Amino acid sequence: MTKKPVIAIDGFSSTGKSSISKIIAKTLGLIHMDTGALYRGITFFALQNCINDNQSIDVEKLLVALPKINLEFQNVDGELQLFLNGKNIDKEIRFPQVSDHVSQVAKEADVRHFLMKTQRDMAEKGGVIMDGRDIGTVVLPDADYKFFMTASQDERARRRFLELETAGEKTDVETVKQNLISRDKIDSERDISPLKQADDAVLIDNTAINKEETIELILSHIKKF
Ligand code: C5P
Repeated sequence: MTKKPVIAIDGFSSTGKSSISKIIAKTLGLIHMDTGALYRGITFFALQNCINDNQSIDVEKLLVALPKINLEFQNVDGELQLFLNGKNIDKEIRFPQVSDHVSQVAKEADVRHFLMKTQRDMAEKGGVIMDGRDIGTVVLPDADYKFFMTASQDERARRRFLELETAGEKTDVETVKQNLISRDKIDSERDISPLKQADDAVLIDNTAINKEETIELILSHIKKF
């Protein structure tokens, strides 16, 4: 049997990268890793343990505390969920407070370095689909397939708002849109591993197509293995 592929999916916030990657993983028999969850996990830790007097994240304190952080994905009912030092935090990392601070944490070189090994180890044996911001450019530059996802800001805000509303979060479309704009700006402009399309990535704009059509489009680029 030929080796299972390594697939990198990068792109802007709320383009559906993770939910689409999850379905593709099931369809093709691959492992899915949502790397955004790792950055969210570190941010969740920082919000609990590294807050300074003016209620913002004390980055220096966080960097010193990094060795105390153990993040791992565990299989819960067939799905990989994130555990921080043994505690399931899969739900908490989606809270708006985490979304508001995650890009500030993710631009720290030490944080990115800390998470690099976990990500690369996962892809070593092949058979993985990994989604994030710098997977095709920095983490797995030799991936077999690379995709870069985008969609209009309004459409992304609308989808994300519906998701949060369904999850019982009280918010509004404009607040969600501002969070997306702010994260995309910090993620694209940071010095280390900025969000950008790899030269050899296929651009997928799903403004006008739904989830199923996006999955079909991505699958159409992947050869049988
Ligand atoms: O994918 P998600 O929206 O959950 O990612 C949350 C944040 O984590 C992003 O806005 C970005 O700041 C950071 N991130 C990153 N590199 C990745 C994945 C996520 O910097 N590979």
